[in-house]
Amino acid sequence: MHTHCCFCSMQCGLVIENKDDDTYKVKPSKSFPVATGRLCQKGLNAVTHTQHDSRITRPLQRENPEDDPWMPRDWNHAMISIAERITSIQSKYGHDAVAVYGGGSLTNEVSYLLGKFTRVALQSRHIDYNGRYCMSSAATAANQAFGLDRGFTFPLSDISKADYIILAGTNIAECQPTMVPYLLEAKKRGAMIVTIDPRYTLTTKLSDIDVRLRPGFDAVFVNGLLHVIVKENLYDHTFVQQRTQGFESLVDAVEAYTPDRVEALTGILPEVTRTIARGFAQAKTGIVLTARGVEQQTNGVDNTLNYINLSLVTGKIGKNGCGFGAVTGQGNGQGGREHGQKADQLPGYRLIDDPTARQHVADVWGISPDDLPGKGVSAYEMIEKIDQGKIKAMIVLGSNPVVSSPNNHFVKQALQKLDLLVVIDMFETETAQLAHWLLPGSSFLEGEGTMTNLEGRVIHRPQVFGEYGDSMQDYQIICQLAKHLGKGQYFQYDSIEAVFDELCRASAGGKADYSGISYDRLKKEKGVYWPCPSRDHAGSPLLFTDRFYHSDGMAKLTPITPKKPAEVTTRAFPYVLTTGRLASHYLSGVQTRRTAQLNRKAPVPLAEIHPWLAKKLKIGKDQKVKLTSLRGEITLQVKIHNGIHPRTIFVPFHWGGALSINQVTNDALDPQSRMPEFKICAVNAERAD
Ligand code: SF4
Repeated sequence: MHTHCCFCSMQCGLVIENKDDDTYKVKPSKSFPVATGRLCQKGLNAVTHTQHDSRITRPLQRENPEDDPWMPRDWNHAMISIAERITSIQSKYGHDAVAVYGGGSLTNEVSYLLGKFTRVALQSRHIDYNGRYCMSSAATAANQAFGLDRGFTFPLSDISKADYIILAGTNIAECQPTMVPYLLEAKKRGAMIVTIDPRYTLTTKLSDIDVRLRPGFDAVFVNGLLHVIVKENLYDHTFVQQRTQGFESLVDAVEAYTPDRVEALTGILPEVTRTIARGFAQAKTGIVLTARGVEQQTNGVDNTLNYINLSLVTGKIGKNGCGFGAVTGQGNGQGGREHGQKADQLPGYRLIDDPTARQHVADVWGISPDDLPGKGVSAYEMIEKIDQGKIKAMIVLGSNPVVSSPNNHFVKQALQKLDLLVVIDMFETETAQLAHWLLPGSSFLEGEGTMTNLEGRVIHRPQVFGEYGDSMQDYQIICQLAKHLGKGQYFQYDSIEAVFDELCRASAGGKADYSGISYDRLKKEKGVYWPCPSRDHAGSPLLFTDRFYHSDGMAKLTPITPKKPAEVTTRAFPYVLTTGRLASHYLSGVQTRRTAQLNRKAPVPLAEIHPWLAKKLKIGKDQKVKLTSLRGEITLQVKIHNGIHPRTIFVPFHWGGALSINQVTNDALDPQSRMPEFKICAVNAERAD
């Protein structure tokens, strides 16, 4: 049985074999091109959680989540009760009192249906998803610079063709391990690899130059690179003149960022700045990749824009072996944001406040554009609205905001105020522990659909297993609920393929145009890169070969003035906390903490601290540190490692409850993308005896 791994944006091909003892063996698919016949440890263990004893097998209900036990219910009772409660809440408080919170691991079809359900069945403006915490800064930056947001502007195979690769705030070797062979292939050809990160990671091992940059200083450092490129006349004059706008303003913005000044601000030696600037600009081909390290900040959009500036001024985009990429984290972080799960978007990346876009999508859905609600607010802002009493009910599908949100004591308190919280999931997640209803959804092996990987390749993922227990496929739950809300006529589908065909029509003419894609093509061609506007279009592996997506066809250079993070260190909170992923876990850990083979590699989070800090705090190996911020505290065992910046502490975020680092993180948001500042907050650290 062929399928695709659910645990990251590579979407590697899997082959699942049923063994004699009724267990399953997972092997890499040799025929699917993305992962070059490899799987990482998560892929090899991707089936285990789907068979876990703690899976929810039937709808569960309770009146009072704090005191009452779960009571099993049948689906019909569940649908009628939930629909009645929603109707009652909306008649009292208005349509916008009910919100939907989606996920970045859902298929394109379920993401699309969730957006349609919110706008058509609930007629609420409030939908957003956990991708807000993942790709929103990269998406905003790409839209501003290129007029189009696709994670990679090039196919994965182009990485091997690059002569110079800059990896900024991205730990590919742990988060997307099967991308490493592409980097190794480039190295074999003589490519230089530069990593920019506050930590020495498995990815740093691949680098020729390792820039150990403190969190929050990316814009300063990149301004230094741009300064050298401009001053030494190393930029691509023809490309800058013919394909970009804003160069003069950029030159002014980087004027003051001499390598000496960069050293004064960051400690990075001037020769390092000069060497990287010259090397990247003079290389024939080159790629810049960023990820959450630079994006999950209140200056995340600016940071990303500056790395894009680097690609643009050197003319390294729109050609083979060149490009910019924001490495998508979640399994369908790309497709999940293209078709209507975001607060301000309709399918195909259409903006919900654009009258032409509203008319097009309303026509496909068979409604009047006047009945479409307007723009909602971002994921964390929905939680603030719950706290303010403006949102009274929420449906959460495939997401665990109690673990994944910043400042999660506040999030938990807010969700406890809801009159109705419905969670659709495979397990009783930390969020489901606060819910009135827990509905058993499908695993990645039980629901057919499409996913879009980090390079913009749309792939078909078949159904491998039947429904688990009395669970229902996610798309059917949405359609059933719509029916019980009296909107069933808009949710009549014979199959999930019919949902995809409608999605394609809704996306036609939009930026993420899927209208030339079909299940048949996806199966035959092993994926199709969007945009693909017609059935005879081959798809678009390499973007921007002759024009960008702004109306004038030009890319926009953006001058960046570096700003401080929302929270700076003080005498009381003298260290910087940063968070991230581990190779053996995925997101809030709901699936991977239930996978023994993965969990035993990292059963608890460790606080990574530098030997200098360990000595200062008198903390030895196997001892614990207490981290305190303005929002909360956490006590963790330490990992003493000289690969981290001395004043920076790293903690992975895959755990809930007392082990959740998001008790401490800052909920300040980027003003443009509304991305929380997961990567920087000021903490105190002390030995915990
Ligand atoms: S690289 Fe990603 S998609 Fe591939 S096996 Fe690992 S977790 Fe799964």
